Amino acid sequence: MELLSFAKKAGFVTISGEIYGGLKGFWDYLPRGVALKNALKSAWWDFFVREREDMYGMDGAVITHPKVWVASGHVENFTDPIVICKRCHKQFRADHLLEEVKGIKTENLTMEDIERLLKDVRCPACKKGELEAPQRFNLMFRTFVGPKEEKEAEAFLRPETAQNIFVNFKLIAEIMRAKLPFGMAQIGKAFRNEISPRNFLFRSREFEQAEIEYFIHPDQKNKCPYVKEIDWEGKVAVYTAEAQINMQEPEIMSWKELSKIVKDEWHLYWLYKAYSFFLYVGLESKNLRLRQHVPEELSHYSEDTWDIEFNYSFGWRELMGVANRGSYDLEQHMKYSGKDLRLFDDNLKQKIMPYVIEPSFGLDRLVMAILEQGYSLRDNKIVLKLKPFLAPVKIAVFPLVKKDGLDKKAFDIYKHLKKRFKDVFYDDKGSIGKRYARMDEIGTPYCITVDYESMEGQGVTIRWRDTAEQIRVKEERLLDILGSLINEEKSWENIVKVTGS
Ligand code: ATP
Repeated sequence: MELLSFAKKAGFVTISGEIYGGLKGFWDYLPRGVALKNALKSAWWDFFVREREDMYGMDGAVITHPKVWVASGHVENFTDPIVICKRCHKQFRADHLLEEVKGIKTENLTMEDIERLLKDVRCPACKKGELEAPQRFNLMFRTFVGPKEEKEAEAFLRPETAQNIFVNFKLIAEIMRAKLPFGMAQIGKAFRNEISPRNFLFRSREFEQAEIEYFIHPDQKNKCPYVKEIDWEGKVAVYTAEAQINMQEPEIMSWKELSKIVKDEWHLYWLYKAYSFFLYVGLESKNLRLRQHVPEELSHYSEDTWDIEFNYSFGWRELMGVANRGSYDLEQHMKYSGKDLRLFDDNLKQKIMPYVIEPSFGLDRLVMAILEQGYSLRDNKIVLKLKPFLAPVKIAVFPLVKKDGLDKKAFDIYKHLKKRFKDVFYDDKGSIGKRYARMDEIGTPYCITVDYESMEGQGVTIRWRDTAEQIRVKEERLLDILGSLINEEKSWENIVKVTGS
């Protein structure tokens, strides 16, 4: 089944404004989807903010001062190449069209290259029309602040959350008495008027980012105390700029070997942390790889940028980016605002300008990766394999049949579990097989069933989604066992061994 129809049918995501035909590039999260996304956000916030001592959270405005976007370069440069069909007037993203029609990589191409290579291409929609010369199109959504629609009132919906962080950098550093190195983190919506939104949640016009700007003293370059956390012998798939230029394949290497390629220790460390987070939320290493930007892709201020790519059904694509942004953003805001954004270094007795590593996650692309990877079939029925702590429903409780007091007992157990685990669901409708199948489809890891043996004090069964295997446990042990399974303190195999089922 196509992912979109599954996501809708199972209550995760649907196109926004569907009863009016849907608005392209906008998505509404449904009950299961919002639960999954919230669980991911809270896992991200715990992992990168609450568990650390060097990270400060914030939540900035979607519409901020328009000068922010002039200073950041977005007004001038945040563009994609667009081509329009002379005949049917359909619009296409020029680089994507080239990739599709000619199968060439476009990262290294200039506008002149794109124009030349598109010369003999006809419109893919009407199949006949010639294409106009490609133009640059600014992706920021515009609006007006106040009642008058005039140039002075023009403002933009933020195309990234990062700039809220840069403009509050000095304030937060002072208020929190933060000492370098430290980071600032934010989760929030971003808006881009993408020319051709597609591939479901992958490229939409409204999406959610989870971004970190990590500020480092220029003297601490290459002196990252956290690199000791890296599992140096651990393996990772890497696609270096050099391999891409020489048309070679990505290679598997150890983090030790990668450290010879990613020169900046802080950059390496943040790549490792971001990669570790993806493993933590259940993405498999075989579906992940690190890809270095080739020189033409790099923003002029970036020394080095790496994407973490996921193997989506439509190919390897950027799940997130980890960029070395230098001190570009702070310098720009200092220049345009006239405010001194440097920090005073007590030892050097002078002001210094930090440089920045930016790990930038796209939450919707992560939701999509998790759904794509988790989707599987058993006996022709869908089983969604999610990490238990991410599942929208963590435990379902059923009476085997809705009579003889089984339903009352099951409902009492449900109420008891609901208090502790919250994401608990009670169902007594339809055959038990259908009830299990409904739960497998939305990724519910554990189903508890009350049967006739339960009525004789023999305990209840717990069924594990991934294998459909069941064990019988005493009721008084339920809270304990389910707690350690959902927190992943113990594995299913572990529990099976201990209970002797
Ligand atoms: P792409 O090259 O795919 O357009 P990008 O390099 O422009 O992405 P960034 O500006 O680095 O993306 O944004 C950081 C992250 O935000 C991306 O890694 C991605 O996860 C997410 N993101 C960016 N654009 C979109 C979009 N249109 N829809 C969904 N997520 C997005």
